Amino acid sequence: MKQPLHRAKIFFGYIMHEKLKLGRRPRCCVEGCTKHGQFMGNYTKDGTPLFRKYCAKHHRQRQAEKKGLSVTQWVNAWHPYKKYRKDYCENAKGQYAGWLHFVCTTKIVMPHLQLDTDHIDGNPTNNDPDNLMTLCKCCHAIKTNLFSDYKTKGRKRLGIAY
Ligand SMILES: [Zn+2]
Ligand SMILES: [Zn+2]
Repeated sequence: MKQPLHRAKIFFGYIMHEKLKLGRRPRCCVEGCTKHGQFMGNYTKDGTPLFRKYCAKHHRQRQAEKKGLSVTQWVNAWHPYKKYRKDYCENAKGQYAGWLHFVCTTKIVMPHLQLDTDHIDGNPTNNDPDNLMTLCKCCHAIKTNLFSDYKTKGRKRLGIAY
């Protein structure tokens, strides 16, 4: 089932596409890159769309490099709660170790794939750092089930499956 928001995004994307065809869209200035420069979302006074010199991917890479972050870290810095994600499971160490009545022994090899940010009270819109906790996928599944977090209101609207 497609979310209304998702549909709106596709429609918006289509409109943008149609609009952008009118302007001459430059290529990314990185050698060997065939992508177009990223549209900046605004226009000059005479209606010419503004583009970055870099494509979306290379723009992200450059910005992350400037800040000394990995691309994932830089992207997550804009996310309402992913920026609070730690690089270990909090059920394994730190002040919440053993919080789920057992100590996590999952070995974290790829933090960005294995770790989630959990909303402790189950409310997916409460992004207070005190309400956020980093859990590995295993512990997150157990926590969600134990506390019936999947029943909290507003999950469907946000497109959260569990
Ligand atoms: Zn590029
Ligand atoms: Zn864990």
